[in-house]
Amino acid sequence: MSEVENILADEGNEVLGFGSSQSVEHVEGGKCQHCRWTEVYILADKDGVSYHLVTIGESELAGERTIYKMETTTSPTYIVERLYRKSDKGEWFLPRPSHQALVEASDSSKEFDSALQRWQERKGI
Ligand SMILES: [Zn+2]
Repeated sequence: MSEVENILADEGNEVLGFGSSQSVEHVEGGKCQHCRWTEVYILADKDGVSYHLVTIGESELAGERTIYKMETTTSPTYIVERLYRKSDKGEWFLPRPSHQALVEASDSSKEFDSALQRWQERKGI
């Protein structure tokens, strides 16, 4: 198992938030979010001070493999910042899986709740 898989499998680490862009139905032709999708995990490490932001690129298409990305930080604000994107019009937004994971994390953690509020206030969202 990779380092990311170990962190996800370790039951001492708490999943604060999870989001997925996978759709229920398969769509023929073009981009199908049933066959290729993104998952976002926000975890609190069992060490009590660090958090992990895990992004997984999943695919059920032949010849494609799962892509794992992970960042580890002690700052919930950093994770909030990493999840936000800027649109072509210069507006801040959260892609669906990131939005879902972050809303869940703010429900399960006071630190994430205040980090999200502070960040939104700072950016005028
Ligand atoms: Zn499909």
